[in-house]
Amino acid sequence: MLQIDIEACIGCGVCESTCTFGAIKVEGGVAVVGDTCTLCGSCVDVCEVGALSIEREEKVTQGNLADWSGVWVYAECRHGRLAPVALELLGAGRKLAEKRGVSLSAVLLGSKIEGMAEELIAYGADKVFVVDDPALASFTDDAYGNALSALAKKHRPEIILAGATAIGRSFIPRVATTLATGLTADCTDLAIRDEDGALLQTRPAFGGNIMATIVCPHTRPQISTVRPLVMKPLVRDAGRKGEIIKVNLDSALLKPRVKVLNSVVEDLDRVNLSEADIVVAGGRGLENEKGFAMIRELADVLGGAVAASRAAVDSGWIPYPHQVGQTGKTVAPKIYIACGISGAIQHLVGMQSADTIIAINRDADAPIFDVATYGIVGDVFEIVPMLIAKFKDRKSA
Ligand code: FAD
Repeated sequence: MLQIDIEACIGCGVCESTCTFGAIKVEGGVAVVGDTCTLCGSCVDVCEVGALSIEREEKVTQGNLADWSGVWVYAECRHGRLAPVALELLGAGRKLAEKRGVSLSAVLLGSKIEGMAEELIAYGADKVFVVDDPALASFTDDAYGNALSALAKKHRPEIILAGATAIGRSFIPRVATTLATGLTADCTDLAIRDEDGALLQTRPAFGGNIMATIVCPHTRPQISTVRPLVMKPLVRDAGRKGEIIKVNLDSALLKPRVKVLNSVVEDLDRVNLSEADIVVAGGRGLENEKGFAMIRELADVLGGAVAASRAAVDSGWIPYPHQVGQTGKTVAPKIYIACGISGAIQHLVGMQSADTIIAINRDADAPIFDVATYGIVGDVFEIVPMLIAKFKDRKSA
């Protein structure tokens, strides 16, 4: 907590004017701290007479961290299919496991999931823990959370990775809470710290304006969720050998409090952004819905999908499932054509892994050109029709 030495305080008010949370006020000649204090420490730094200090609780390391070993990937599967992010995480997990000199395991939860364990081995897993139980046929937070927590308590992995999907985001926090450890959500990069083998978990922070690297020094496992399409899967190797461990868990653990009455597969796949090889994206520079009709034509000629910046979605020119970026989808196509998009960091985090980025913008200083492979400085309403005509010519020739 923030301590104020009232003997030393001279009531100068510098702390009050520095506090961006309005948590400190000078009353009766001395500083007084209120409920909104976040312990950021900015007042302590500016106090010239040293009247302010922060007393922090000493963090206690839980047990012997070295008792936890191995990298785990939660292998999400839905409607009889492995989620692509599970394979991407095995690619990332393989590198972490090799750096740590430990094994890489996948955890498969569900019902009638035969055959998927072999696929996980082909994509890099050394071991696959399989809990195949009718109680896990439909996803529920409590049953899936209990199952993964029980396995982790028993086998003590040092790292657990899961997709930052609707399912991962829903039940992985429950696993972290049950295991009394931390969770870093929505990571975009993972690495191992040389000095102590800790997991470095990097993610956008403060609205995507900075990248923060987070470590979990006092507890295990270190748990991260990672957005789909950020990591690359390994090349499938059908000859890889691994161990499949079938686990039966106590039925009481798998009894959900929520009863799933019906499950409907949403038709969002129509947008199919995540799997398109070519994505043509539009931003505020397209000015209106008609601008999107123009880039839809370009996408159609190229056999690609249409995406948008949040500014375009917020303007109502195109629905949300097309949004790319921090609060939209992540895409990694072969070609991403950004039309009238400035290149805000929140947009870039969703598309910068594209192999080739082509940017069209009339402002030569737009940040999108910093990530673009090819940049065209000019008016989208002149350039896009020229591209459409040219590609049509090529196709008919
Ligand atoms: P602008 O920044 O307004 O850029 C328009 C560009 O079009 C300009 O560079 C301009 O030069 C160019 N232009 C204008 N007319 C023409 C023309 N005729 N020809 C050529 N060029 C032209 N944004 C996202 O996209 N996705 C997200 O998921 C997302 N999440 C966010 C989350 C948070 C927490 C926050 C705070 C913001 C988020 N944003 C997101 C918003 C982001 O910060 C930007 O505001 C947004 O990306 C800007 O969209 P834009 O590039 O289309 O618009």
